[in-house]
Amino acid sequence: MNNYTVTRSSMPSFEEYIEEIKPLWETRWLTNRGIKHEHFREALLEYLKVDNVQLFCNGHQALESALLSLNLPEGSEVITTPFTFASTTFSIIRAGLTPVFCDIDPMDFTIDAKLIESLITEKTKAIVPVHVYGNICNIEEIEQIAKKHDLKVVYDAAHAFGESYKGAGIGSFGDASMFSFHATKVFHTIEGGAVCYKDDLFGKNLRNIQNFGIEAEDVITCVGGNAKMNEFQAAMGICNLRHLDDSIRKRKRASELYRSKLSEVKGIRLNSLNSFVKSNYAYFPIVIAEEETGISRDLMKERLHEQHINTRKYFFPAINSLPFIDKHCSRGNTPVAEAISNAVLTLPLYEDLTEEDVCFICDNIIRIIENGK
Ligand SMILES: *Cc1c(COP(=O)(O)O)cnc(C)c1O
Repeated sequence: MNNYTVTRSSMPSFEEYIEEIKPLWETRWLTNRGIKHEHFREALLEYLKVDNVQLFCNGHQALESALLSLNLPEGSEVITTPFTFASTTFSIIRAGLTPVFCDIDPMDFTIDAKLIESLITEKTKAIVPVHVYGNICNIEEIEQIAKKHDLKVVYDAAHAFGESYKGAGIGSFGDASMFSFHATKVFHTIEGGAVCYKDDLFGKNLRNIQNFGIEAEDVITCVGGNAKMNEFQAAMGICNLRHLDDSIRKRKRASELYRSKLSEVKGIRLNSLNSFVKSNYAYFPIVIAEEETGISRDLMKERLHEQHINTRKYFFPAINSLPFIDKHCSRGNTPVAEAISNAVLTLPLYEDLTEEDVCFICDNIIRIIENGK
């Protein structure tokens, strides 16, 4: 019997990766922005259609470094969403800033742009929206609000790599965007991340914060950390980038099949898709309406697990419901995020998931609902 994991890392062939890392035994240059790092960075500039990008050891450090590079006064308020991975909120707090939680749109689960203005105070300095499950935030409205109130915008685009909006690369919006290249993401460098940005001074800060504040030989300019990407990570990125489009195509097929099989099932709600977005099909979430199915999200997860189908409560818990969060900020009022995070389940999705696999998983979901009534 098959065992279905939620994600399965894409990998190049063994030979392709070995070929890519072979020169490192000659150069003995393993990190500190070496040849592979530069080669990968240039490939990304082209793929993402952006002017500037810097590479990081992981996505979290990339986001935290980006927020530090804005040089905002300590304790500045940052409007963000609680429907995300812990990293988004934690990077704000760890950068010495205060998260202010805004509720999400019930259709696409991204930050509800209509509510942002009501949360702005004189301490608000930035917005950190998150692109969710292959959907893109309401970019136009967010840019407008940011302009009107002179706020910085840093997108958590952690799982949006490879997407575009109205033909523009997803890294080209806001003041900066962060991508995660973690092994579970659509595109990965084992661990890794990147920040795309517009402003040169921001870029200089970002480089310094990434490498102990070292600006040049004998010149240290700030209290930086260490968040550089090494050569083996970059080599994995170079290889995986060659296969990314093909990988997204396969995910698209599986996602569309899921959608067609599940969209008419009573009590199962799917997120809406934006026709201007070219998605990367990162996740396939379903929202289970217990009052219609008679089955709770947790029971559905358990029953699927009995069939060796693993799913993930992603994102759960909503970050503003964590027991210790009120030591750092207010929980805010976010009933939609709470409801979705209590009812959402992401299904297995990876490039080599076959049509039969998707049918098997959907048939089980439908059967569990029928038996549960
Ligand atoms: C994965 C992820 C991160 C963190 O990235 P890492 O590379 O794992 O550090 C941050 N935000 C979101 C929304 C993510 O999905």
